[in-house]
Amino acid sequence: MKVAVFSTKSYDKEYLDRLNTGKKHQLTYFDASLNTDTVILSKGFDCVCLFVNDKADKETLERLSANEIKLIALRCAGFNNIDLEAAAKNNIKVVRVPAYSPEAVAEHAVALILTLNRKTHKAYNRIRESNFSLEKLVGFNLHGKTTGVIGTGKIGQAFCRIMLGFGCSVIAYDIVASEEMKKAGVIYKELDDVLRQSDIISLHCPLVPETHHLIDKQALQRMKKGVMLINSSRGAVINTQDAIEALKNEQIGYLGIDVYEQEEKLFFKDLSEKIIPDDMITRLISFPNVLITSHQGFFTREALEQIAIVTLKNISDFENKLPLENEVKR
Ligand code: NAD
Repeated sequence: MKVAVFSTKSYDKEYLDRLNTGKKHQLTYFDASLNTDTVILSKGFDCVCLFVNDKADKETLERLSANEIKLIALRCAGFNNIDLEAAAKNNIKVVRVPAYSPEAVAEHAVALILTLNRKTHKAYNRIRESNFSLEKLVGFNLHGKTTGVIGTGKIGQAFCRIMLGFGCSVIAYDIVASEEMKKAGVIYKELDDVLRQSDIISLHCPLVPETHHLIDKQALQRMKKGVMLINSSRGAVINTQDAIEALKNEQIGYLGIDVYEQEEKLFFKDLSEKIIPDDMITRLISFPNVLITSHQGFFTREALEQIAIVTLKNISDFENKLPLENEVKR
């Protein structure tokens, strides 16, 4: 099929080209992300291949349909950036990569916890300047602490297993409890109890209307003072402005985020020579107890390979009129 790949980075091209064996599909790469201004680029293609910050809203979908696009192949798991109702109306199928490497994201969430707690990023910089002092580097033992997990799907479960391995008590909230996790030692509780009882809270639920700003002022007030909050799900699960207030009044003791509400204008780009127009991110960067990574939870060799394999298979299945096992429906 003729595929327009949006938001292309060097690693996307490397893995997709390598795994597009026999050049089954004709892949054309665009740096631009998909939106109403760039949708014109989809003319002459059958499929668009999208990532997390490409936006397929109603208007873009109507124009994709007018350009005879029949398939959106997401090379990610989340699909909050696609208006599924408008896609169905415009007869455009949507496929995704539901699980490329849950461990990659879970391990990254743990990296945020360990870095924030033991301050290895600060120690690294100090030692490079021959500062061997330990002042202000004190952390806490994870062993014996209570970790709260919101969303125990594939990534949440991988995360629970790691935290159980550290000797944490793991409590969780999900709309569907996992029997396997219960057997492993995870205790399911109401959201309110998870918020109140946890020393560390890690978010692994999808961004859906019910989880939009799930962590807002009220939720933050219910948490333990000095809580460590980790978000590797989607930015808008946290109300960023409320989180900034909670950092200022020290309700949040540590914040680790791999995702950010307004990330589409910032993440995956080198803006080091630019003026950052987003005052919220600059405020967040200014806190010594905030660690931000730019949506790199998925970013391992294993995950990139799996993303490319499944994306290409999804496109082939559509082309060959086979059942779409990874179709996303409203
Ligand atoms: P999943 O579908 O396997 O699991 C999601 C879990 O959340 C499910 O158990 C579901 O029941 C639960 N859930 C749904 N609504 C909920 C609610 N209102 N409250 C509490 N729990 C709820 O998904 P996954 O593969 O584990 O991925 C989770 C999220 O992680 C994705 O939706 C995506 O947004 C994010 N993600 C981030 C990265 C990254 O690089 N940072 C990579 C992949 C996925």
